[in-house]
Amino acid sequence: MAPEDCPNCGGSGYVAKPVDLNGKSDGVAFIRLKCPACGGTGRKRTVPPTTAG
Ligand SMILES: [Zn+2]
Repeated sequence: MAPEDCPNCGGSGYVAKPVDLNGKSDGVAFIRLKCPACGGTGRKRTVPPTTAG
């Protein structure tokens, strides 16, 4: 994993969220949600270097 990759989604930009279908224990499915940490970019939110001065 590259240092610039989002640690929350591993750089994929999406996270798998398990959803329980109708409460069935054997009906668990996974849906892909846009990673809230990076907003789907898969990159860390780094502060851009300021070029002041
Ligand atoms: Zn992410």
